[in-house]
Amino acid sequence: MTTAIFYDPVFLEHDTGYGHPESPDRLKSIIRGLRENSILEDSRFKILKPSRASIEEISLIHDPNYVRYVEDFCRKGGGIIGTWGGGVVCSGKSFEAACYAVGAAIDAVKLSMDNIYPRSFCLVRPPGHHAEYDYPYGFCIFNNIAIAAAYLIRFRGVDRIMVLDLDAHHGNGTQHAFYDSPKVFYISIHQDAIFPGTGSINEVGVGDGEGYTLNIPLPAYSDKEVYIEAIRRIVKPIAMEYKPEILLVSAGFDPYHDDPITDLGLTLEGFREVYREVIDISRICSGRIVFCLEGGYNLECLRIAVASVIALMEGIEFDLPREEVYPPPYLKSRALSIIEAVRGIASSYWRID
Ligand SMILES: [Zn+2]
Repeated sequence: MTTAIFYDPVFLEHDTGYGHPESPDRLKSIIRGLRENSILEDSRFKILKPSRASIEEISLIHDPNYVRYVEDFCRKGGGIIGTWGGGVVCSGKSFEAACYAVGAAIDAVKLSMDNIYPRSFCLVRPPGHHAEYDYPYGFCIFNNIAIAAAYLIRFRGVDRIMVLDLDAHHGNGTQHAFYDSPKVFYISIHQDAIFPGTGSINEVGVGDGEGYTLNIPLPAYSDKEVYIEAIRRIVKPIAMEYKPEILLVSAGFDPYHDDPITDLGLTLEGFREVYREVIDISRICSGRIVFCLEGGYNLECLRIAVASVIALMEGIEFDLPREEVYPPPYLKSRALSIIEAVRGIASSYWRID
């Protein structure tokens, strides 16, 4: 079996300006890591150029007026769009890049459902999980992963999609898009009490969607052990009962212990162990798993961790630099009490033991 990697140089043309953390250097660093580990020329991986999503496809999640507004705004040269959370920087080519980022996610889920490339990783910019119905937010313009999920529901009749959001920030946009729907189970593991402020344990969905949203807000410095505990004791048992047809992962690399804008505690080796657990869950859905890059702002982490996760999808493991992190002594008890609280809430809807 081959792992697909979606990438296009157009993603580098979303220019956010000097000193911006969500910069083209992020993807350049990832590509460098793939090259250094011989992934680009390895026949077990297939690099694919994504399609360009249409305005109609993007409008599966977004207000078409907003989509056209972004197109116009970028055609006129860009600038800062919106004011929410400081607005999102757009350059003249950001709309193009955003259309291809959505296109990558749609291509990936189609090829996964068709069992042509069940596993894939979308190396895209701009990221997507903060983007809302009619406004951009938190470096995100269009919600790549949410649009891909909506596409499967609309055009492929898929009824059960699990979106696991591993970015350090809560994916408010994805959660809102499916908050009243049981067709998408949104589950997020993120750092508590940082941007965007949503994602508390009490946000569980509404109406038909009640019980199909779950949030695990972890304390600062949460490390590999905490993540694996959350995955094994919450995500996995729920996935086994929900039985998704496909697993979509918002792959943020900002839970890194040395990320410049967050305070979580994963090491490079920690990412690989966490993603090993996640890839293992995809056996529930015949190995169908699609990763979409979200955040992650330490270029060295991106260079090494993304390559190691992509390699792992083909069972390849290379040596990782050793890193020591020193979590505070109160971390374990505080994190475990959150995990227990979430399990308590989830047990109203799911048999998780
Ligand atoms: Zn993030």
